[in-house]
Amino acid sequence: MAYRQLQGTNRGVSTGAPVAYSRPMPGRVGRSALRVQAVAEAERPTAAKSSASAEPVTHDITSKLKYLFGRNGDYTNADAYQGTAWSVREKLIDSFNKTHEHWKKEDPKFIYYLSAEFLMGRSLTNTVYNLGIEGEYGAALRDLGYQMEKVADAERDAALGNGGLGRLAACFLDSMATLDLPGWGYGIRYKYGMFKQGLKNGYQVEMPDIWLTKGNPWEVKRDDIKFEVGFGGRVERKKVNGKEMTVWTPSEKVVAQAYDNPIPGYATPTTSNLRLWDAVPIHEFDLGAFNAGDYDRAMLERERAEGISAVLYPNDSTPEGKELRLKQQYFFVCASLQDVMSRFRAVHGSNWEALPEKACFQLNDTHPTIAVAELMRLLVDVEGLEWDAAWTITTKCLNYTNHTVMPEALEKWPVKVMAKMLPRHMEIIEVINEGWTKWLGVHLKDLKSEERAQKIAAMSIIHANPWNADEMLVNMAYLAVVGSSAVNGVAAIHSNIVKDEILNDFYQIFPSKFQNKTNGVTPRRWLAWCNPELAALITEALGSSEWINDTEKLAGLRAFASDPAFQAKWSAVKKAKKAKLAELIKKIHGDDVNQNALFDIQIKRIHEYKRQYLNVLSIIWRYKQLKKMTPEQRKAAVPRVCVIGGKAASAYDMAKRIIRLVTAVGDVINKDPETKDYLRLYFLPDYNVSLAETIIPAAELSQHISTAGTEASGTSNMKFQMNGCLIIGTWDGANIEIAEETGVENVFVFGVRAEEINQLRKDRKNFKTDPRWDELMKDIEGGMFGDKDYFKPLVDSVNNMKVGNDWFLLANDFAGYLAAQEEVDATYKDQSEWLRRSIMYTAGSGKFSSDRTIREYAEDIWHVKPARPSA
Ligand SMILES: *Cc1c(COP(=O)(O)O)cnc(C)c1O
Repeated sequence: MAYRQLQGTNRGVSTGAPVAYSRPMPGRVGRSALRVQAVAEAERPTAAKSSASAEPVTHDITSKLKYLFGRNGDYTNADAYQGTAWSVREKLIDSFNKTHEHWKKEDPKFIYYLSAEFLMGRSLTNTVYNLGIEGEYGAALRDLGYQMEKVADAERDAALGNGGLGRLAACFLDSMATLDLPGWGYGIRYKYGMFKQGLKNGYQVEMPDIWLTKGNPWEVKRDDIKFEVGFGGRVERKKVNGKEMTVWTPSEKVVAQAYDNPIPGYATPTTSNLRLWDAVPIHEFDLGAFNAGDYDRAMLERERAEGISAVLYPNDSTPEGKELRLKQQYFFVCASLQDVMSRFRAVHGSNWEALPEKACFQLNDTHPTIAVAELMRLLVDVEGLEWDAAWTITTKCLNYTNHTVMPEALEKWPVKVMAKMLPRHMEIIEVINEGWTKWLGVHLKDLKSEERAQKIAAMSIIHANPWNADEMLVNMAYLAVVGSSAVNGVAAIHSNIVKDEILNDFYQIFPSKFQNKTNGVTPRRWLAWCNPELAALITEALGSSEWINDTEKLAGLRAFASDPAFQAKWSAVKKAKKAKLAELIKKIHGDDVNQNALFDIQIKRIHEYKRQYLNVLSIIWRYKQLKKMTPEQRKAAVPRVCVIGGKAASAYDMAKRIIRLVTAVGDVINKDPETKDYLRLYFLPDYNVSLAETIIPAAELSQHISTAGTEASGTSNMKFQMNGCLIIGTWDGANIEIAEETGVENVFVFGVRAEEINQLRKDRKNFKTDPRWDELMKDIEGGMFGDKDYFKPLVDSVNNMKVGNDWFLLANDFAGYLAAQEEVDATYKDQSEWLRRSIMYTAGSGKFSSDRTIREYAEDIWHVKPARPSA
């Protein structure tokens, strides 16, 4: 099979230089003068055309450093980053302004993505590539004596999210802008993002993420955009202009201050927006209080207000249940709805019936669900609409995405807490629930009365706490379903579980409300920009870089999967990326690793259902096998470098023990002279977006081994797939669809299926464990890795002999997992087969672009159409 040679071999795989995609894109020509020039020079490397045009940019960068930071020459990489970022910011704002002028003129329907989390990562690289100005900026930095890659490394991650859910929101924003969809994200500008994770003696330590100290070039403070948000107080009925109205007088008020974060689309002039709210005191400085000498009170007010947007709760897949969390949720929802309504009013006056034609909202999990009650309050109490009219508007505007299958992880707020903090909202929810249960009574009239009463009780938005009958709870997922037009899960299997189990009662009544929207990730950040070497090779093979926003074109790679010459180039790229990861391991742990070993990666939040523990057990087993081998036998084994990374929620004790087990096993294995050439295990601390961008391109095998039916979708599996990384995984979440697209025979699938789980859980007392499993339990219990008291709860947690244990069925899947790992080794020994599969993964990843996901949301749920400004 013929494919085109890599051009400009001086830009070979190790330079990291942006290459093939610097050619003009459809719709991109004219974004800058350079682009036009590039049309004629399409076949030439970026660097060749750079020096003449770099000068104004060079000047701009140095002048930013001079006048914004008072610096003159002798810059560090961190300085160069600041100068570059503040220069790029201006280009970004130009594009942002153009887009919004266009949207203002066109007045299209908007989608507002409400999310408590946006895990954005770094912006510099993504911005210059998406804007198509990487050539100018790369050259300017080179002229100044810097490398874009090192300069970009100086940026801190914007880690305003825990994991998958927040990263999904970030990928969605990239796709919405790239598809020219009028859409904004709305969230909270947390002062402290996700905690920084460190290791101390192998234990997780948490440090504050003070990410804003050096300023943030990627945001624009909107001094003119502020809204009041109230809490507490009392609710009264009053005659206002002869009309009976409900008036809520909060006892506490804060101001939500807007910050805009422009979101550049790729290969389009569109730059959309993520608007984040910062909480500030209502009397910026309470002069009255100050004059009276009550300095403390004024400062207290400030502290209380700022507390609302201070910290991101570091929980993943379990709700926090703290009052401040509800306050945060209401804070950003209230400000966002007021903001949207004030823009609507400026154009359409009080024609609120038309609101659903101009605005819709996606609730990212239940976190923003208070929007149901808040939109009702704004329409009824503030705008004076009748209840029924307001309800029609509200349900037309809102849609809800479910992200979790674990019933205990669905948010429920005590009525007492809500009534105190949001008394009017609690009333509104009660009225909604009255109407809802009454409607159910009529709808279910054919059921026997006892059965009907049971059904209604089971579907009531307000219900007793199953663990404490005295406490009444507001079920936020139920409120979201009742208050929305569409409800969706995030992968095919997950959406089925939502319909068949979690929300089955609701599905029975509103089958057409329920949809599936399989997640996706942006191929810009997660392939093109984080792996420019592979991107260049793909572009060469396909003859065009159109795959970057039309990932179905990646299927064309299948034609090269078995081509030895192409495989050699594919392998060379992977080797170069492995060398980079090896460098990072060396930097963190001081060890040199065998770069010919299989790089085996599991990076994700640490959670029992994600089963990092199962991974560690198989590593211990591998270690024990290696110990038993003769030196000759060992030489025939497939060497592995295993990497595990991820944060444990600060209060999640078991997850922290799992981290300690990883580090303890690593300490033993990595030092053992007999085995250290064949097996390593490293925990890489502080897993975040930037670390993922380094690790994923280097991965050869990645692990997605959650208990079937527990991982809603997963999205890192998609990132790995795009980068040609083979997957060992369970029949769970998006793994299933990934296997279907890649060819099931190319994926190392193991473990019980979701349908079997309930029965197995019931039977697990009688489960006969594998003797190898029993041996490993004894090893850990016996102190083979030290700390045996600390590890005892871990051993107990998976002990099948005790009722209530091994909830995630590690023992059930253990033997199958070891067998799948043997298959991995056998396949790796056949490098040509391994590379063929690797290419097939990338070739099969087309479906998992978030562009596809967003197109589906836009067509099936939002009914929002592209509106592209002219270039
Ligand atoms: C993609 C991503 C996740 C989600 O990973 P899963 O393996 O799907 O749980 C979490 N954290 C970061 C930093 C990511 O980039």
